[in-house]
Amino acid sequence: MSLSRREFLKIMGGTSAALAFPGVVLQGCKKALERVSERTNVIWIQAQSCSGCSVSLLNKVAPDVAGVITEHISLNFHQTLMSGTGHVAVSVLEDAVKKNRKDFVLVVEGSIPTRDDLYCTIGEIDGRHVSAREWIEKLGQNAIAVVAVGTCATGGGIPGAEVRATGDNPTGAKSLASILPDRQIINIGGCPPHPDWIVGTLLHVLLKGVPKLDEQNRPVMYYGKTVHEQCEHLNEYKEGIFAKHWGDEGCLYNLGCLGMDSGCDIPTRKWNDGMNTCTACGAGCIGCTENVFPDYGKRGIFKHLTASAQEIKSLHPETREVVLKLRNGGAING
Ligand code: SF4
Ligand code: SF4
Repeated sequence: MSLSRREFLKIMGGTSAALAFPGVVLQGCKKALERVSERTNVIWIQAQSCSGCSVSLLNKVAPDVAGVITEHISLNFHQTLMSGTGHVAVSVLEDAVKKNRKDFVLVVEGSIPTRDDLYCTIGEIDGRHVSAREWIEKLGQNAIAVVAVGTCATGGGIPGAEVRATGDNPTGAKSLASILPDRQIINIGGCPPHPDWIVGTLLHVLLKGVPKLDEQNRPVMYYGKTVHEQCEHLNEYKEGIFAKHWGDEGCLYNLGCLGMDSGCDIPTRKWNDGMNTCTACGAGCIGCTENVFPDYGKRGIFKHLTASAQEIKSLHPETREVVLKLRNGGAING
């Protein structure tokens, strides 16, 4: 399986990412990838996760994930994809720590529980359960690059969501950045992230180093624009055509769409190899790529947006009237 120039550009994000790549890399990307595959290992730790990010990765169509794993990277460890089990599997991590290996990229999926070191352990050493936190702290020291995959890893996500009664979460779930405060973390937000974001970011790290990151340390090539500014419903929004109920035609703002506050390229990249998008299918954007997901500052999802004064000012007069009315207590779903 080889990665064509067209496939490579598609993963990297099309024209804008292509411009960031020197021509020599693009022309020789196949050769470069072959060279990279000889020397770059990936250790992928699943901590407190539902495995949805890995499932999303497995949905990668072109190039298929088997090709990426077997020909472009060497996946040393992944709890659900590797064939080894028990001590054989855990010995990969043990060896990496003991031998002070510095030849791998560390990928972490899921939030990391910190309370009592009890809620997520991976294997045993001398009869002692070893927590995901401990492995990550040890492996994170030497990794070439450290990548958080999915919003549980980038911001705590659903396991890290606040329990209203206690103002905390039961397992003390934290983001990868909280566990490795001295390392630069490349965050690939999303619940789950699009497979192109995962593969494209890893390829960028392997071929050209860390991509340009935004203020949440996410690759700008995927998260640089808001959902709203690329949305299929943008014209309806500007014309003041709003859905009042799920299934209605129109912009989903009044139903709590968070597209204005969320960065990702799904409206153009689309899910399932170009089949559909969160907003086009009528579900709206739940802001899954943002580090504040799903709490959104106690607002939760499917509540009204807090558009900035400038955004409201720039609206079509009729839309502005609707928005101001909603803000003043005329909310349909808030
Ligand atoms: S559906 Fe959401 S993202 Fe799309 S135009 Fe309306 S508010 Fe913006
Ligand atoms: S459109 Fe919204 S819900 Fe869909 S992937 Fe992007 S941030 Fe997540």
